[in-house]
Amino acid sequence: MGKRISAGNNLERLIEKLACPVCKTKVELISSGLRCTKCRRVYPVIDGIPVMLVEEARSE
Ligand SMILES: [Zn+2]
Repeated sequence: MGKRISAGNNLERLIEKLACPVCKTKVELISSGLRCTKCRRVYPVIDGIPVMLVEEARSE
C-alpha cells in the first residue's frame, strides 16, 4: 500500500534526469519502481515521486 506507479509525462521526463546514486547510471521504469540498469537496485516510486535513496532501494 502507498506504492503506486503514476505513468504520467512528468514522471517519464523526471526519470530521464535521474541516476542511480550508487553507480550514477540511468534508471528505467518497471512495475515495482525505478531500476538501475547497472546494479539492478530498484528504487520505489511513492505517489509518483521517485525515492532515489540507497537505504530505500531493494535488490532484485
Ligand atoms: Zn546502480
